[in-house]
Amino acid sequence: MRPLVATIDLSAIRHNYLLAKACAPERLAFAVVKANAYGHGAREVVSALPEADGFIVACLEEAGEVRALHGKARVLLLQGCFEAKEYLMAAQLALDVVVQSREQAEALLGSTLNRPLNVWLKLDSGMHRLGFAAEELRAWHARLAAAEQVAELNLISHFACADQPEHPLNRIQLDCYRSLDDLAFDCRSLANSAAILTRPGAHMDWLRPGIMLYGASPFADRPAAELGLKPAMTLGGSLIAVREVPAGDSVGYGASWVAARPTRIGTISCGYADGYPRSAPAGTPVLVCGQRVPLVGRVSMDMLTVDLSAVPEAQVGSPVELWGAQLPVDEVAGACGTIGYELLSKVTARVPRRHR
Ligand code: PLP
Repeated sequence: MRPLVATIDLSAIRHNYLLAKACAPERLAFAVVKANAYGHGAREVVSALPEADGFIVACLEEAGEVRALHGKARVLLLQGCFEAKEYLMAAQLALDVVVQSREQAEALLGSTLNRPLNVWLKLDSGMHRLGFAAEELRAWHARLAAAEQVAELNLISHFACADQPEHPLNRIQLDCYRSLDDLAFDCRSLANSAAILTRPGAHMDWLRPGIMLYGASPFADRPAAELGLKPAMTLGGSLIAVREVPAGDSVGYGASWVAARPTRIGTISCGYADGYPRSAPAGTPVLVCGQRVPLVGRVSMDMLTVDLSAVPEAQVGSPVELWGAQLPVDEVAGACGTIGYELLSKVTARVPRRHR
């Protein structure tokens, strides 16, 4: 076996889910498990959270997988249904559906369903990606509240800048959301991880924690550990080759990194086809034998290389961590100019996941 594995600590995910709930006692919380639970394995994550109040997915395929594991939990389909036959399937799976456009609302009203659906009307409170403007939403509220296809009628919106708590758009979005306080909804939902952690006024009835479940921070400037989160995924393996490179010689494709002095180079069996970003610059931290060493040379499809100068004891077979329990994914993401969300959710299918 190639020495590369993503070890997933399911007890960390449970800890993080309970931490989200503890931020807002008495509220309910969907666990966001879209995109294969941000790369952690939706099947295992859902099974590890029997106490979850509900789950959130992006598409019908993901919803079917969650429903097969959890007969009763609420399963909310974020982007909603695009045709009548999808509404039928959603009703069969007893899903909650977001209705975010006129087209979706009309398709719902034109559907004959074997049971009514819990509908989450999406308010475009300022992100301008999905949803109805406030006045338009009022009109749809009136029509859908009376529709036979609708069981619960709920309100949902999403922050664009919750990860920057001081950003003025947060206040604008919250005010827009609250401008609909006079409408009768069964449930309301607004808060993602960052808002759960910083904005009690946005907690509403249902929380929607995503990234925090996986132990990464939603904030660029606040480490996950400081927030009490436990990292769930450790991407690790071992060195597959070690060599001495003389001063002046280059390492890797494009000969882009040149050794300034004689350097021991370690090769790790993880590349961009495993989800490690090709854009990672020289200096991106990697752990070898528990010590930080810098990545050097270009990340290739199946391998990357590091400077072992700081770890003279390192040899073929020595343990490596690309991110995880000892090296926060957010730190690696920061070095690569991206966010933990992207690194975690892009770990590819060829990397075996080991759940414990
Ligand atoms: N709610 C919605 C509508 C989302 O799109 C997402 C993530 O993309 C979340 C909640 C979870 O966000 P986070 O992972 O920042 O907690």
